[in-house]
Amino acid sequence: MHPSRADRFCESVIREMTRLAISYRAVNLAQGFPDFPCPDELKMAACEAIHDDINQYAITWGSQGLRSALAKRVFQYNHLDYNPDTGITVTCGSTEAMMATMLALIVPGDRVIVPEPFYENYGPDTLISGADPCFVPLGEDFSIDEEAWKEAFSEKTRAIVLNTPNNPTGKVYTIRELRFIADLCIDYDVIAVTDEIYEHILYDGRTHTSIGSLDGMTDRTVTIGSFSKTYSVTGWRVGYALADEALTGKIRKIHDFLTVGAPAPLQEACIAALGLPETYYMELASLYDRKRKILFSGLREAGFRCSLPEGAYYIFTDISDFHMADREFAEYLVKEIGVAAVPGSSFFTNGGEDRLRFTFSKKDETLVEACRRLKKITG
Ligand code: PLP
Repeated sequence: MHPSRADRFCESVIREMTRLAISYRAVNLAQGFPDFPCPDELKMAACEAIHDDINQYAITWGSQGLRSALAKRVFQYNHLDYNPDTGITVTCGSTEAMMATMLALIVPGDRVIVPEPFYENYGPDTLISGADPCFVPLGEDFSIDEEAWKEAFSEKTRAIVLNTPNNPTGKVYTIRELRFIADLCIDYDVIAVTDEIYEHILYDGRTHTSIGSLDGMTDRTVTIGSFSKTYSVTGWRVGYALADEALTGKIRKIHDFLTVGAPAPLQEACIAALGLPETYYMELASLYDRKRKILFSGLREAGFRCSLPEGAYYIFTDISDFHMADREFAEYLVKEIGVAAVPGSSFFTNGGEDRLRFTFSKKDETLVEACRRLKKITG
């Protein structure tokens, strides 16, 4: 068969691990989705919208109600000031927001910087859009090597893809780091595309900063968000892209022809999500803090080297003590131990064979059962 774009990258390892987990009845700590319900308010609002006959296409860039509610929310939480009519595009999850943004901004051959390790989708996203990806490694402790980052920026660089809080590392970029990146973006006329899907999942008093809120970044940032993780509705497929009018115009064009729009009744239910009280977000963070600690101690007891993440809901472990490469070890875990995790190499272009990623976005009892099974590794 004639080769096509699809031949340039592999299938998603994360989603493949979920399929393996199902076929081996393993506890799925591979893919980051909750096995507990979303808030009742959201379920009721979704059912109500369907009963109220909101079942036809919404406006392609999102229902007026949702865009207005989002404008208020991101002004208050992210300190981003976007007009709902010209700066907000509702998409089919942040996955589509990222793809639509790349297709909208990139001319084939443009260089796009991606800090490594990175969320698996960004690799294929750059290749599908025709970008020339430039992967900049984070340090062992996930710190930024400023000299290496300065070298990565050039006249050819069109965009940088950021993700804070970060999947898989759990890193939360500090304001100082974001200011350093923002200054490089300004110096080299680069657009920051920032995936902030875990913005509410932060630990130990950390706070979230959107790079788009820093001085000089308003018209050179696309901020991507989603309802998936904050409201435990990963299957609803509702996300959004925030950008100035010029960038939004391009993103909306691509979004329209890719999807026509996000699910209309679920957009209504997302308005109800944005109406939840502030205590909801505090409870979400403390719920995940508890889960983080359950999995962390289970992994340590089972012999994994790891540290507590600063944000998001993953633990990125060092498996070098087990003397098996990531894929082989992940397969052994799923088939013999009954726990699915993601091989570390799927977050790198080169390397990561000494790592596995586990999610703790699961009920406490699921995590306890996974930890019980993991003890079998050490016998
Ligand atoms: N971005 C990151 C960093 C993720 O970890 C995930 C899912 O795990 C996604 C995007 C996908 O989000 P959505 O469900 O909004 O498409």
